[in-house]
Amino acid sequence: MTAQILDGKVVAAAVKNEVATAVADLAVAPGLATVLVGDDPASHAYVRGKRRDAAEVGIHSIHHELAGDIAQEELLELIDRLNADEGVDGILVQLPLPDHLDGEATVERIDPGKDVDGLHPFNLGQLVLDRPGLRSCTPSGVMRILEHYGIEVAGRRAVIVGRSFLVGRPLALMMSARGIDATVTIAHSRTPDLARLTGSADILVAAAGVPGLIGASHVGPGATVVDVGINRVGDRLVGDVDHRAVSEVAGAITPVPGGVGPMTRAMLLANTVTAARRRRQG
Ligand code: NAD
Repeated sequence: MTAQILDGKVVAAAVKNEVATAVADLAVAPGLATVLVGDDPASHAYVRGKRRDAAEVGIHSIHHELAGDIAQEELLELIDRLNADEGVDGILVQLPLPDHLDGEATVERIDPGKDVDGLHPFNLGQLVLDRPGLRSCTPSGVMRILEHYGIEVAGRRAVIVGRSFLVGRPLALMMSARGIDATVTIAHSRTPDLARLTGSADILVAAAGVPGLIGASHVGPGATVVDVGINRVGDRLVGDVDHRAVSEVAGAITPVPGGVGPMTRAMLLANTVTAARRRRQG
């Protein structure tokens, strides 16, 4: 058996089309402020990509580039100004920040209504409470891929490998939410006998950051496998899943690159429109 490919590029294009239509319906284009600190080449590339995506769907981006040695107070003052700026609907601070800066305090300073990364404790709390809020982009992107391809989630057993606040935990909350109704187990670096646990999953999500962690022996026949991992090995980007071997066992699988990555970017645009609509409705 060769698994069906769940193509994140296709789903991301559909999301971007929806966003472009929603943007066209707004009287004033949504504004996305991007904040980049220091000269890490990967962070620069990510922000460039996000601003290009924004331009494609008609979102106006306002870029702030700060020196790597900026003081925490100065960074917080910028966030305060962006919070108060009526032309800014969403604020994205590219993480990680240089070591001397406090990433958590910086994210907490963002107005939760403009927190388009969905990482502010208020928005994470709204997720726990199953209330509306801005949801973090990567787990939302995973949910959207499953929905797009009609993968049944309700009543199925999901195993998520990774317990980070960025991916694993919010995804577990989304999958177990009322109305979505998966039965979810979170595995992590201290989980014994990972293969036995993951082998029982109908839906297996790998978000550990360990190349090739999930092999064929970790996957039950016909399971859906979502590979969130993005790892640089030499000059290649690989996921957490041994794609070739697992494709022979799984029913469906996301590729890396071209799976969850494009979805994360697309969901940022969707969140920016959501934030703009909510702010304008008051
Ligand atoms: P993290 O380091 O914060 O968390 C990794 C988690 O994996 C931890 O909870 C840890 O307990 C678990 N883990 C580590 N080794 C393990 C092992 N051997 N067995 C079981 N569990 C193990 O990482 P993160 O920020 O959640 O990111 C995870 C991966 O997802 C990384 O490769 C990252 O680059 C990628 N990522 C991709 C996207 C995307 O858009 N596709 C977005 C965010 C993160």
